[in-house]
Amino acid sequence: SPQVAPRMVLPGGTIGMVGGGQLGRMFAMAASRMGYRVIVFCESIDEPAPQVAHGCVTGKLDDKKAVDQFASQCDVITLEFENIPAETIAECQRFAPTYPSADVLATAQDRLLEKTTLQKSGLPVAPFAEVTDLDSLETASAKVGFPLILKTVRSGYDGKGQHRIGSIDDAKQVDWASCSQWVAEKLIPFDREVSVIVARTRDGRTSTFPVFENDHVNHILDVTMVPASIGDDLTRRANQIAIGAAVALDVVGLLCVEMFVCGESDGSESDGSGEVLINEVAPRPHNSGHLTIEGCHTSQFEQHVRAVCGLPLGDTSLVSNAAAMANLLGDLWPADGSSPPWNRVYDVPGVSLHLYGKQQAKRGRKMGHLTCVSQDRDTAVVQVKQAREQCK
Ligand code: ADP
Ligand code: MG
Repeated sequence: SPQVAPRMVLPGGTIGMVGGGQLGRMFAMAASRMGYRVIVFCESIDEPAPQVAHGCVTGKLDDKKAVDQFASQCDVITLEFENIPAETIAECQRFAPTYPSADVLATAQDRLLEKTTLQKSGLPVAPFAEVTDLDSLETASAKVGFPLILKTVRSGYDGKGQHRIGSIDDAKQVDWASCSQWVAEKLIPFDREVSVIVARTRDGRTSTFPVFENDHVNHILDVTMVPASIGDDLTRRANQIAIGAAVALDVVGLLCVEMFVCGESDGSESDGSGEVLINEVAPRPHNSGHLTIEGCHTSQFEQHVRAVCGLPLGDTSLVSNAAAMANLLGDLWPADGSSPPWNRVYDVPGVSLHLYGKQQAKRGRKMGHLTCVSQDRDTAVVQVKQAREQCK
């Protein structure tokens, strides 16, 4: 389809955001502060992002009339989640430059294509194989070994659609009819998980945030800490891999690269031991980057605005030595529909509370987060966890 020529979009211009969740909300807040107008395209004005945006077009994401109404108001368009129909992005591109591109999205929507693309570019990924049914799982297990993790190729998030498979007997329990395409991955006995968020402009400039260290509970991000407790060598490798992935996928905007770090000798890997493998990538702001709002000179959301508008990229360095972020899941909300006692959270010094304006708390649903910036990483982690305890 014909595309609009890219040009720099300066403050005063209008940015379109496809998706109405918390990532879109925090993007809109950053863009507003910078003097942009943000129009959100999502299904309901009650979602987190439209509550803080200048305008909103509601409709199904594949409703061409709604897409046109939205896109025709925008100078540049971006998105906050990857499961957007390719036709919608193609339609957006007729009206305004749209980042990331339909190609990047097609790759990021498909775990198999994503892993294959990264691997072909010489980037390290965990051993994987395509699976469609019990028979092909048996073949795949010969390649990747047991235990393995079985993931749906499309539309999984926060561990949804994942099974840990220890044996063929486990595999027999899987509801194979529920999905036609799976990927089997070797279970990586990692020492820690890290992520690197890289921003890339359309003329190929890149900038990375500090490496974040991530603790997951039940496959959902629980706490992010910075600096990551890995040495200089692994840090360099993680950054190289993240930039390599952004270039390989030709991302414009943000790319978060989640990685496993394994085989560290004793934390002092100056001997070159230790391995970094890509787990998955997301071409958008990421939960592990929320601490950049208070913790870095430029937040991931401001960097996203800068990248898609063609502005110079900002300083990503930490404002202090360390920072930590703890997610607030719906599990913390009382069953009677009331709210946690937020006043007690404000009692914990140095902790910032973010709430996403979601009407309904559900188990495992991301409702908000807490951030603490500190001279010392352990203090930052203790503070956010203490503040979270106050929510109970
Ligand atoms: P999602 O799209 O749901 O975030 P991920 O692939 O990132 O899916 O998996 C969520 C979490 O599950 C990871 O952060 C990690 O803790 C765990 N996990 C996923 N794949 C593996 C693996 N191959 N080996 C070990 N742990 C894994
Ligand atoms: Mg993940």
